Amino acid sequence: MKNPQQANPAGLARRDMLKLSGLTLGGLAANGAMGARVRAAAGDPTQQYSYFDSLDEFVLGTPLEPDEMRITFLGSTIPPTARRVQQMMSVFVEVGNAKGKSDSFVFDCGAGVVANYGAMGIPFSKMDKVFITHLHGDHMSDLTHIYCFGPSQDRKSPLYVFSHGNSTVANPTGSPQAYDDGVVAYCENLRKAMRWHTESFSFLSTGYQSYVRPTKESWGLPVDPVPVGDDNASDGYAMIPIELDWTKRGDVEGDNVAYNNPETGVKVTHFPVIHCRKGSIGFKLEWNGLSMIYTGDTKPETNFINQAINGGKGIDVMVHEMIVPAEVWAMKTLGLSEPGSGSVWEAALRTATSVQNSSHTPQGAFGYLLSQISPRPRLAVATHFPVADDTVASALASVQTHCPDMQQGKDITWSFDRMVIRVNATEIKQLRANVSDFTYCPAPSSVHADISTPKYCTADGQSDPYAQLDRSTEILSTEEGGQETYRKDGY
Ligand SMILES: [Zn+2]
Ligand SMILES: [Zn+2]
Repeated sequence: MKNPQQANPAGLARRDMLKLSGLTLGGLAANGAMGARVRAAAGDPTQQYSYFDSLDEFVLGTPLEPDEMRITFLGSTIPPTARRVQQMMSVFVEVGNAKGKSDSFVFDCGAGVVANYGAMGIPFSKMDKVFITHLHGDHMSDLTHIYCFGPSQDRKSPLYVFSHGNSTVANPTGSPQAYDDGVVAYCENLRKAMRWHTESFSFLSTGYQSYVRPTKESWGLPVDPVPVGDDNASDGYAMIPIELDWTKRGDVEGDNVAYNNPETGVKVTHFPVIHCRKGSIGFKLEWNGLSMIYTGDTKPETNFINQAINGGKGIDVMVHEMIVPAEVWAMKTLGLSEPGSGSVWEAALRTATSVQNSSHTPQGAFGYLLSQISPRPRLAVATHFPVADDTVASALASVQTHCPDMQQGKDITWSFDRMVIRVNATEIKQLRANVSDFTYCPAPSSVHADISTPKYCTADGQSDPYAQLDRSTEILSTEEGGQETYRKDGY
């Protein structure tokens, strides 16, 4: 019998897998010596991802076709190290107006992703519904920015945050018996923590009068949309948690619906996955006969398989996480070109192995999952994965041991930041967006004529930028009475 530590189902030893992927060709071919430490230098070809350049360009601002579902990656890798080319997780999904009205969704918003949203020209007004698979920092830390700066731009309406309820995991040190660790407590605490920010920015208008508040019925929500804290329920600084029962998976029709909007035709459901601590969920979005699943982080498990089989209909796009082998992860983080030795190596390997065991889907398991889904997704996308020519080659080899016919680019692909996937009933196109590093924040896409009176305003209801200031030490412009100081118009 094969030793599972040494061989995969195709009978390839670990050493062969590494060689196949080109990960350690140099070291192993020379003499197999362990322990040589070669810091990956800038420009190292194993740190490139040439597939990116092989894709056609997505032209920024391309309007959505009525029958198009568009999936854009704004963040795509695993922590702790955000890479210059890959921020933490975020997937933006937009649908066309084939069912009446277009709609848009942010799935996770980890650290660094707002720079990519800006570069892609995605305005805050389209980022008003954020679905968070689990409350790990790499999936929610840029919510702070989205919340704080939406109302000073064009999201002058509440921020809706969909995520799991309390984990109910027992606290091993006793008191409290279990923590409030779900989305309601998260939003309550974030809202409180942002008080100085939100007051200070409330010299600007943060709402508009004709905003139509959604209801539990109009958006098909599991709960009434009620803001935390004392904000007006139509205001841009209202934060509205939509708590989802993470144990539900549709066993009773409709028990796992997060959002079901008849006006846009989009339905989002959720299902439990296995990741780090109870509570983590995956999402499925269905619209106009198209569907996509985003699992967030998870170990390989069966709920996802059932959701992807989708009652025999299958799904169009599967976005599922994948982790590099612990040994490869340790090599990459230590800057080694081959497996190492010694206490530092052992410690890195132990940590990587432990993270995989608590939380993630190994490459081969991703292939196994695919082998269990019939009909297969039209496109499988591996995400939460540090892409480079060597890591992807290794991962593809692992997937192909279970699904030999899977080809990169056609049936399977690996996500990277600013990758755009355009989906309709007949075609799925993968594109890459080239953006400027110097892009300005996108111009507001919706400007309201009936903006509400700012909280800090003058007697005649105008914005009062001075209302919250102590100006006693201010140096005034010449026009304001300063003695030959500076021009008021800024020049
Ligand atoms: Zn996580
Ligand atoms: Zn994660």
